[in-house]
Formats: sequence, structure tokens, C-alpha cells
Amino acid sequence: MRIVFDIGGTFSRYAKFDGGTLVSRGKMPTPNHLQGLTPLEINQSLLTFIVKAIGDDKHRISEIGICFAGPVSAAGNILASPNIHGARLAQPLDLQGAVQKLTGIASVRVINDLSAAAFRYIDTYRSFELVTVSTGVGNKVVIDGRLQLGPEGLEGELGHLPAYLPAPLDAEVNVPCTCGFGANHINVISSGRGIEEVAKQLKEGSLKESYLQSIMRDTQIMTAESICLASRYDDDFSRKVIDFCTYPLAHALCLTLTSLYLEKIILIGSVVFNCPYYLESLMNNILAIGVYNFTTAQLQQKIIKGIADDNNGLEGMNRYLDLLV
Ligand SMILES: [Zn+2]
Repeated sequence: MRIVFDIGGTFSRYAKFDGGTLVSRGKMPTPNHLQGLTPLEINQSLLTFIVKAIGDDKHRISEIGICFAGPVSAAGNILASPNIHGARLAQPLDLQGAVQKLTGIASVRVINDLSAAAFRYIDTYRSFELVTVSTGVGNKVVIDGRLQLGPEGLEGELGHLPAYLPAPLDAEVNVPCTCGFGANHINVISSGRGIEEVAKQLKEGSLKESYLQSIMRDTQIMTAESICLASRYDDDFSRKVIDFCTYPLAHALCLTLTSLYLEKIILIGSVVFNCPYYLESLMNNILAIGVYNFTTAQLQQKIIKGIADDNNGLEGMNRYLDLLV
């Protein structure tokens, strides 16, 4: 039996596979620094979740796979996790070693969550970029069937590129990034958290008139979900906010497409899956920026939505472990 975990920015999930068949699964909200927890308390809570999920199957489980929302070294050390621990960890967390010690199970693999998710698509495409838009933004690139990741696991952090904000609203937005290395990174502009923050700032500035005429005006709490919902009804304010937020990601994806041969750019994550206008807006911005040599039709067929469920990390991790053998 095998158990795989997906420790995400919002939820932590697990699934048990017996002879390739999924036999049970579960989830909990991921503890994080925004709840006032210290890194040590967060680590303890995650380890407790892992041990509980293994439960009575401890002696039947021969393999553990864990994917984690943050950079992970080839040795299974967690270096940082802006959306869980906050900034970079003072000491890398040896999650692989801690789980081996706690469970007595020797075969433990820890990789980045988006690296794991990429393995869900690796049998379908040889060269692609996987981009997730949820609490934050992340990416991973696979070229000719190989994940482009160095031994330190530092690559695939497009989210922490300073966002190229569109004029004339660019000067009105300032969102500090969760990584602690500056403000207005793609991670805090083009994400769910970004949509919420940008809306709050622009409704006090140049989009005030649009906001006052928006259906959002009567909403008690402005969240990414409520803004995305309003965007479905042609709401001008919500659509302008989302257009602003998708622009830097569109810009970054155009750069990737001018540089690399990719069969597809695959978008996943709660914002992509739950907000149809987000993908439409991203595509419009990609077409407006343009990619040299590419026609509109070519760009449209390159950008696709991934499998719209919560299992990209778990299914990908399961496939990753299959391929290790
Ligand atoms: Zn950042």
C-alpha cells in the first residue's frame, strides 16, 4: 500500500492506493502563519496530520509520497513556503527525515506540489509549462519529458517575479509579497489573494466610479470569490480588476512562449477552475501583448485548462512514485 500527501497552501490532502486503486482519502485545512502559528507549531501540526492519516495502515504501507507548497531540495528538505510558514525558513525542514523517523517507513519521497502535479500530464505532453493560480501563483516546466528542476529545487517560482503592471493603474497598487522580498510580485497580483487586494486598493482610487456602480457595492465582504462571481455578470469593476491582475501573468507567459518550445501551457488551481472570466481575461491579455511569430489561433490552442479537480497533486505524486521504480 502507498499513501500520498498534498500539503497545499489552503488544504492538506491524502490518498491511499492499494495495488494502484485509490482506497481512501481525507483532508484538513493547512495550518499557516496567518493564524499566528510559529513555524515549529505548523511543522508539528503537519506531522500529526501525516501520522493520523497513516493510522492503522502503518504496517501495510510501504511507500510515502509527500508534495509540498514550497521549494523542496532533492534531499527532501523544505526551504521555504510563503503561503504556509511565511517567509524563508531559518533552518530547512527535513520533512523526509522527520516522517521516516516518526513512522519507521524508510521509503519517503518529498517533492514540490506543482512538480508532483506536472507528473499527471507527463504521459500526455512531452514539453509543457504547468501554471497554478490559487492562493498564490507557481509554475513548473517540463521539456522533452524531463522536469526542469535543479538539485536545490529553486526553479519554477514565476510567482516571485516582480509583476509588470499595466498603466495607468500601476502606480495605485502596492501589495507586499508573502516571500518577504518586495511588493507586487505575480504571486500577490495574479492570484486569488491578489484579486482581493487589488480590488480593495483600486476601489479607493481610479476605479471608484466603476465600484459605486458595481454589484460589488452591496457586498459586505470583498473576496476573490465574490469578485469572480460578479465578473460572470459582466460587472465592469470586477472585470477591470481581473484584467489588471491577469496582465502580469500574461506578460510572463508571453516571455516563456518567445523563449521555449512548449506544446501547451496548462493552467490549474482554484481561481482558474472557479472563475471562467479569469482565463478569458488572461487569454485576452496574452493576445494583446502578443508573441512574435505566433498567430492568434496558435496561441489559443497552446493555452489550456488542466483537469479541474483537487487531485492534481495527489494523482501526480502517485504517478511520480510509479515512474521512480
Ligand atoms: Zn514574492
